[in-house]
Amino acid sequence: MTRDPRYDILFEPVQIGPVQAPNRFYQVPHCNGMGFLRPKMLAAMRGIKAEGGWGVICTEYCSIHPSADDLPHPYAALWNQDHIKANALMTEKVHEFGALAGVELWAGGASSSNLLTREVPLGVSSMPDLSGNPYQTRAMDKKDIRNLRKWHRAAALRARDAGFDIVYIYATHSYLLSQFLSPLHNHRTDEYGGSLENRVRLVRELIEETKEAIGDTCAVAVRMAIDDGTGTVEHPISEDRREMFEMLADLPDLWDVNVHNYAREMSLSRFFKEGLLEESIHYVKSITSKPVVSVGRFTSPDTMVSLVQKGTLDFVGAARPSIADPFLPRKIEEGRPEDIRECIGCNICYSGDSLGVPIRCTQNPSMGEEWRRGWHPERIHSKSSDATVLVVGAGPAGLEATRALGQRGYKVMLAEASTELGGRVTQECKLPGLAEWGRVRDYRVHQIRTMPNVDIFPDNSLNAEEALDIGAEHIVVATGSTWRNDGFGRYHSKPCLDLGPVEQIFTPNDIFKGRLPQGKVLIFDDDHYYLGSVLAEALVTQGVEVCFVTSENLVAAWGAMIDEQYQAQQRLLQLGVQIITAHGLEQFDGANAHLSCVYAERTQTVAVDSVLLVTARTPNDSLYHDIAGSIDADTSGTGSAPTITKIGDCDAPAIIAAAIYAGHRYARELETDVKESDVRWSE
Ligand code: ADP
Ligand code: SF4
Repeated sequence: MTRDPRYDILFEPVQIGPVQAPNRFYQVPHCNGMGFLRPKMLAAMRGIKAEGGWGVICTEYCSIHPSADDLPHPYAALWNQDHIKANALMTEKVHEFGALAGVELWAGGASSSNLLTREVPLGVSSMPDLSGNPYQTRAMDKKDIRNLRKWHRAAALRARDAGFDIVYIYATHSYLLSQFLSPLHNHRTDEYGGSLENRVRLVRELIEETKEAIGDTCAVAVRMAIDDGTGTVEHPISEDRREMFEMLADLPDLWDVNVHNYAREMSLSRFFKEGLLEESIHYVKSITSKPVVSVGRFTSPDTMVSLVQKGTLDFVGAARPSIADPFLPRKIEEGRPEDIRECIGCNICYSGDSLGVPIRCTQNPSMGEEWRRGWHPERIHSKSSDATVLVVGAGPAGLEATRALGQRGYKVMLAEASTELGGRVTQECKLPGLAEWGRVRDYRVHQIRTMPNVDIFPDNSLNAEEALDIGAEHIVVATGSTWRNDGFGRYHSKPCLDLGPVEQIFTPNDIFKGRLPQGKVLIFDDDHYYLGSVLAEALVTQGVEVCFVTSENLVAAWGAMIDEQYQAQQRLLQLGVQIITAHGLEQFDGANAHLSCVYAERTQTVAVDSVLLVTARTPNDSLYHDIAGSIDADTSGTGSAPTITKIGDCDAPAIIAAAIYAGHRYARELETDVKESDVRWSE
């Protein structure tokens, strides 16, 4: 297939200072939980994106010196010769496919606590650590500023030696340089503080010094927010910030622009739509002749083309769309945009950085596994035999197992009890804000329907006998899980016996089936992720009065790992939901719910008509055990019994990304002798 000529503009080369990008697809810097700790994993992951057609591939934030250390959040580093070698692994991979490699040089300021290096954090002013650790920065004196400039220059030279083509001055995301620019954080009275010109001085010096050091071979990019948080809702971009851009307009070779509000930039689809920043970034192009890149969770080639044609952007920036589909550009180029695995905006990829572990992605199970398991997002080895596989359950786990087994060439039969495919995703994507989650199902169903070797049997609830009668050599059970209605969870380690009457007790499964509580409902969220708060929103918008109780200190506490917590709590407050944190549900008598404080021996009572429990799930594994039991009991001696495996939520209930991963792994490893010792755990 050839590409649609409407998309030709996306494949035009673009000059950036002394280097030329082969096209307009630009993977902006994004963290990944690997950093300098896992350079081989990182190089393989970035290399695959270059193979997939991204014209520019950047590192995550890359520390210039031990005084910028963000562990436990892994970052890249260019402190010394060893780091040059480690980064060269990435640039070599990127160059192999004709892409440019960019590096985002970084100094942390009050946002990094230096927990690994124990260096005193350097800040524009003396101020508390913004990541919440009990430290405060030293206000940089003139010597510190001279040192910083020296370190930045040295890191830029090392970046060039490591093979990078684009070197960033990183002046946003609340790190050191953005603190110098900020009228709120910069309280200096010397030539680096006060007036606009003074606040810009350090960034200007770094641009000029970086250009002087490496500008003949590398492009110098500036990453900066178009607003500084001091504007109004009607006019988010302050005069100060506007003038700042005008002062620096043509100094860098490229502008990478974002917005001050990280929640908007990292926009969860639950709260923000694709292309959110467009309106705000438009003006940057009007003040510079240099190319501009920005992001917006863009997955539609039509949107990308329109942004370029309108003159909003020169490069289509992407972090998450490149994570969900490293081959997105290639698919457009090959005239098959319908094969794009679209990002769903769930931000699970961000949890790797938050938790200090390698990245994972809900849509792309190979993300982070390119090196250690050798998984490629598009290629998979052929089947090992002519065996037939029966997959039971078409939720994320079953659909991904089917898709990947089909891709391997196995004959696959997919049986699904419901008339609809998609399992929990189909149920959850009907809830407020979660419509894009349906892409998990849509991508897979679309792929499967093109496979002649895969048959789908919806509306087919199988029992063990029926499953065995099909005669497949392999049976994989992906029958999901069911929310518990007995209170068991983190708070109650045993079922809570004082919950009655049963017709006034609800679980998420009831809501999915359309069985809604009447009157006032108490949601007991002991799960701490998104579902409790999303269900609260769903019920409120249907006119149900909600009291939200959580055993955690915050609404959707785990959401802090993915930039969801604050917005989830804000949303419930805006909806007028009564919120009670740090309490467990002890008892419900049909009229009153009795709560206990998790800290002190205090109780409170809330008058409610029903209780919705979001606590824990029971794996739907009875089919698996029935089949396994029949196989064990088979004494026919024919040796023709199928293998039986359970995957996804029916094995261990977890996030959707875990179910997709389990389905993919099953398909990859079927009839192979992959061993744990084959996995490159430590690099
Ligand atoms: P996961 O996240 O592990 O994929 P889901 O709960 O999303 O799990 O999906 C499980 C799917 O399995 C659901 O669509 C459900 O209807 C289906 N299912 C459950 N039991 C059976 C069965 N006995 N036969 C066929 N399909 C089943
Ligand atoms: Fe998109 Fe979610 Fe994958 Fe991140 S984890 S890239 S938000 S689908």
